[in-house]
Order: sequence, then structure tokens, then C-alpha cells
Amino acid sequence: MVILEFKNVCAGYGTYEILHNVDFCMNKGDFVGIIGPNGSGKSTLLKAAAKILKVVSGRILLKDIDINKISLQKFARTVAFLPSDIEITYPYTVKELLLVARYPFAPTFSNPSKKDFEIITSVAKQMDLIPFMERTIFQMSEGEKQRVMLAQCLVQEPEIIMLDEPTAHLDIGFQFSFLDLLKTYQKNSSLSILAVLHDLNLAAQYCNKLILLDKGCVSISGTPHEVLNYQILEKVYQTNVLVYPHPISGKPYVFGVPEEWKNLTEK
Ligand code: ADP
Ligand code: MG
Repeated sequence: MVILEFKNVCAGYGTYEILHNVDFCMNKGDFVGIIGPNGSGKSTLLKAAAKILKVVSGRILLKDIDINKISLQKFARTVAFLPSDIEITYPYTVKELLLVARYPFAPTFSNPSKKDFEIITSVAKQMDLIPFMERTIFQMSEGEKQRVMLAQCLVQEPEIIMLDEPTAHLDIGFQFSFLDLLKTYQKNSSLSILAVLHDLNLAAQYCNKLILLDKGCVSISGTPHEVLNYQILEKVYQTNVLVYPHPISGKPYVFGVPEEWKNLTEK
């Protein structure tokens, strides 16, 4: 079942068009990775999908309904969005942040319900955040903060989660545990995931579908095997690469090649 569809979408800032005729669709339960060079429009695509940026032309359909016709509160019951540049400037506790994220379900000016508390406790348990509930966000490491941000998305019980470079500040251990956790939700709750990932190898290992952007256009979309082809990557990223199968998963793994060894590469 198609859950999200971009139809000929053009979008940008002011008169400057960034995304040109972007077309793709995402099925329920997909883990879709958006990849592409710096400035290729990945964040812009995600902002358009998350209803933060209005499209100039074309349509974005959420379960066959144009997102322009869906109220923000209703949209937030289906879609959770984790931007890349989120900064919390007030010392909220983890518990407060999780309760605030339940707002799409709250009648105006009401107190959190018993169900709200049950849901935040259950997500906090799954994400090992119980010991941090009374701690403020200022007293946490980057990896812990990132887990809180993801927990904020999950307490919304979304059908789709959209994440912009969620692993950017995480070490290799946290990167994998973060994506493993998402994968668990994908498998157990049919969560659909749309994530900007600049690490091609993380994208290859976790996503079942990739969309490669090049200067605001979809260069190619398909399985990691189809998209992570060395000729395509060399053209789009303007650098030499080697692509070999990962020794365990068999998924493509992309190696960059420093200048001094370029003449030694055999393809
Ligand atoms: P990516 O996430 O792939 O690195 P972005 O979607 O953030 O790329 O940006 C794509 C292009 O849009 C870049 O050229 C960038 O300078 C421009 N851009 C991004 N945000 C804005 C903005 N708020 N106003 C004007 N231009 C922007
Ligand atoms: Mg970006």
C-alpha cells in the first residue's frame, strides 16, 4: 500500500527553485533513504514532505490525500518529523519533552491523560530513557539527546517518521543502535521511515529503497543495489569510488579513494 507519494513536486525558497519535478512513492513499512551531495535538496525534500515547506507545483499525497488539505494536528497524528537542526534552549526535563510531543492527541488546554503517561513510559522503557526522565536536556550527551528526540517522535505513535540526518552527531555504536531501534519499529509496528542519511553505507545497510538526489532532481531511485552503482555515484558526487559487497550482509558498500591511489583502482 502506497503511504506517501510525490507527484512532480517543485519546491524552493522564495523565487529560487530547489527541487525540480521530484517523483517517488513510498509503501507502508518501507525504510526509504534520501541520499545525495551537500546542497542537493535532501532537507528541502524532507521539509516539503513534513508540510513545513509549501510546494510550488506538483502534489504530495499522504494515503492518497493532498497534504495541503490535511490540518496540521491531523497530519501530526500520522507523521512525526525530526529536523537536523533542532535546538532546545530551555532546560525541559525528558518527561516534559515527551509529554509535549503528545499534543496532537490533546483537546485544547487539557492536562495529559492516563494514556499519555502510559505511552511515554512505554517508549521511554524501550529506549532506555527511564533513568533520565527527570533530567533536563542540558544534562545529557549528544547520543542521549538524540534518543530523546527520537522518543518524542515515537510517542506520537506515527505511521511515518521523517528524520533529517539523525545519526550525524553519533559515534558508530550509537549510529547502529539508533538505526536498529528504528528497524525494530519498522518490523514490529509497520512504521514507515523516510530518512536523510548522508552516510551511504548506513543507508545501504538499513534502507530497502534509496532516492539519490542530484541538484534537486531524482538522479535514480530503487534498491541499494540499483542506486549504489559506482558509475552513478562517481557522476553525482564527482569523485572516485569503489563499491564492494558488505562481507556479511552482501549489501553494497562504498569506499572513497584518496587522490594518491586513484591510478591504482581497477573497476
Ligand atoms: P541538503 O540537505 O541536501 O544539503 P538543502 O535542502 O538544505 O540541501 O539545500 C538545498 C539548497 O537550498 C542549497 O543550495 C541551500 O543553500 C538552499 N537553501 C536551503 N535552505 C534555504 C533557505 N531557508 N533559504 C534559501 N535557500 C535555502
Ligand atoms: Mg540537509
